[in-house]
Amino acid sequence: MNFSILGVFLGNKCNLECDHCIPRSSISEKGKLSSEEIAKIIEAVEKYKIPMISFTGGEPLLFYRNEIDKIISSLKGELPKIRITTNGTFLKQSNWKDYIPRNVTEIRLSYDTFHMSNLHTSDLMKLLEFCRLSGLGFYIEYILTNPTEMKVITEFPVELRNHIKFDLALRCGRAKDKNKYYNPKHFSIERLRGKCPSIAEGYLLYYQGRGFAICCNNLSETEFVPKESKYFETTSELLQSELYQFLSGISEFSDLALKFDRLEGADSMKCNFCETLLKRRLNNSNEKINA
Ligand code: SF4
Ligand code: SF4
Repeated sequence: MNFSILGVFLGNKCNLECDHCIPRSSISEKGKLSSEEIAKIIEAVEKYKIPMISFTGGEPLLFYRNEIDKIISSLKGELPKIRITTNGTFLKQSNWKDYIPRNVTEIRLSYDTFHMSNLHTSDLMKLLEFCRLSGLGFYIEYILTNPTEMKVITEFPVELRNHIKFDLALRCGRAKDKNKYYNPKHFSIERLRGKCPSIAEGYLLYYQGRGFAICCNNLSETEFVPKESKYFETTSELLQSELYQFLSGISEFSDLALKFDRLEGADSMKCNFCETLLKRRLNNSNEKINA
C-alpha cells in the first residue's frame, strides 16, 4: 500500500473558536495523543515509508508541541517531510521562532476572514520571510464561505498573494451548525466526475483518541456510518475494513449516484456529495452501511 501523507489530527484544543471550524475546536477541549498512540503513528510511518506527516488540530504549535517533538525525534532513518497547519497566533509571541519545531519542512498557515482579526499581514510577511530564509515551504490556506471574501486579498502584499491556496468551507462541523459553509446556488454536474480525495491522493489519517481513518471530513461526523466502521486501532484493520474496500472501489462519485433528484448547490462540494450519496444509498437499499 502506498500512502502519500499521514495526516495526524493532534486534538481539538485551540485558542480560537471559528464559526467555520470543521472539528469544532475551542479552548475548553481536552485530550492529547497517548504514548501508545504516538507509537502507532511512528510504526505506520515506518511500515509504509510514508513520505509526509501533516500535523493538524486544534492549534498544533500552542498546544501539541510535545507530541510533535516526540513523534519527530522517535522516527528512525530518513525523516519524512513534516507539514504543520497553524492559525499563526504564535507569531504574536516575542520568541515566536521557538514555537516552530526542528525538522519541519512546510508551514500551512490557516488564514481567512475568520482569522484575520488575530493577525496582521505584517505577521504573515515575517513568517513568509522566515520560511524563505530557512528553506521551508509556506502557503496560506484561505477558506471561502462565499466568493466575495476573495476581495480582501487584493489588499495583501503581492508576495503573500502568490502563496494563497483557496479552499471552500464544507457543510460540516461548526460550519454546518452556524450556516457558514460555501453554498453554491446550483448543483454542479462536474461533481459527478470527482472521487474521494483521501483515496485518490493516498491519505492515511490518525485522529487523536479515535484511531486510523481514511475519511478526513464528513463521514467522520455522520452517524449513519457507525464509529467502529470509521476508526481503527491498526492500519491493517483499516485496510481490510468494508468501508475502505468500498470507498477504494469507487472510481468516481457517479458510481454512487442512484437518483439525482433533490441535489442542492452544497452537494457540489466533494465530501458533502459523498455524504448525500452514501445516505441515499443506505435509505434505498435499507442496508447498514459498514460500507
Ligand atoms: S483556528 Fe482552525 S482549528 Fe482553531 S477554531 Fe479556527 S478553524 Fe478551528
Ligand atoms: S466524505 Fe467521502 S469523499 Fe470526503 S474524504 Fe470522506 S469518503 Fe472521501
